[in-house]
Amino acid sequence: MNLSQLKPKAALPEPEKTHLKQATQGHRFDAELVAVTKSYGPGAPAVDDISLRIPRGSYCCLLGPSGCGKSTTLRMLAGHEDVTEGAILIHDEEVTHKLPVDRGTSMMFQDYALFPHLSSLDNVAFSLKVRGVATTERRKQARAYLELVQMDHLADRLPNQLSGGQQQRVALARSLITRPKVLLLDEPLSALDPFLRIKMRSELKRIQKELGISFIHVTHSQDEALALSDMIVVMNDAKIMQAAPVREVFETPTNAFVARFLGGQNVLTSDTHQVSVRTDRCRLGRSPGMRSLEGQIAMIEYQGNLVRITLQTTLGDEMTVLQSDTEYFAQNPQIGDTAVMSWHPSDEHVLDPMQAG
Ligand code: ADP
Ligand code: MG
Repeated sequence: MNLSQLKPKAALPEPEKTHLKQATQGHRFDAELVAVTKSYGPGAPAVDDISLRIPRGSYCCLLGPSGCGKSTTLRMLAGHEDVTEGAILIHDEEVTHKLPVDRGTSMMFQDYALFPHLSSLDNVAFSLKVRGVATTERRKQARAYLELVQMDHLADRLPNQLSGGQQQRVALARSLITRPKVLLLDEPLSALDPFLRIKMRSELKRIQKELGISFIHVTHSQDEALALSDMIVVMNDAKIMQAAPVREVFETPTNAFVARFLGGQNVLTSDTHQVSVRTDRCRLGRSPGMRSLEGQIAMIEYQGNLVRITLQTTLGDEMTVLQSDTEYFAQNPQIGDTAVMSWHPSDEHVLDPMQAG
């Protein structure tokens, strides 16, 4: 598609028109939200004036606590929900008022929603049947997508003859056969047991990289988001707190909410500012040149190669020290002991107090 021929739509705000005009070589973003708000009625909106650009070929996770607006955002991208204000673009083209089937998005649902009376193969081929693709051709394509999700050996099974994980693979193949520009997944792993969840998440990542399209994946699991994402979008209270590459979000959280929600960070408040320090950069004991804080050991969790020690400070804050097992057993601290936690000033990252969570 030649974007220079694409007329910017009237609904787009002015800066976005300029951005569209500037894009001449292919598209720049797989998906984009421009000042999008969703209100279901009077009161606080479910999604409040969010803007987001998802670069080409990204694995993007929308991460946040329950009720923060993740599913609503995904449904607006899919076209299953109208936006109250703002615009939605797929491949730099405005789709705000287009039907779901005309957007180039595909949604994989958490409950898989497979047709019970159709085999895996026919479930996957179904959308091609609707489009009038001949039987031989649609079965050939369906088989290729079943192969992609490693389900070709079970092509003839009915959904009730498949495990949850297998049904999910079929559902994934069924979403992908429409060749979406962007695949939308709402908590796709939450129904699986922990072992399968980890296996399936690496499969999702492999398939996304293989196809080169963007996946937008809603989750409330920090581990899942860290493991999968090129880009993490942390949401809270209908707003985006931070949207950035995964390492940037982990290492330089914008505010206390992001630092606490992602985990692996201590949030410390001094007289002048709020800072975060990674738990694996904190130590027990005092050393010259290090800053320190005193507390009482409230919890010790052995995690194999690491030990997690929680300190209750005199101000009532909980601080975590992540120590190697060797260091821990050398010091052998006990619950109830008074202990000092220290860190190097250069490991402090200053948080934005304006957006404190
Ligand atoms: P999340 O997926 O992050 O858990 P949702 O997007 O489902 O959050 O919901 C965001 C907010 O919008 C919540 O307060 C929820 O109660 C509200 N909400 C979601 N869907 C509807 C709806 N169809 N009607 C009214 N309120 C809704
Ligand atoms: Mg949800």
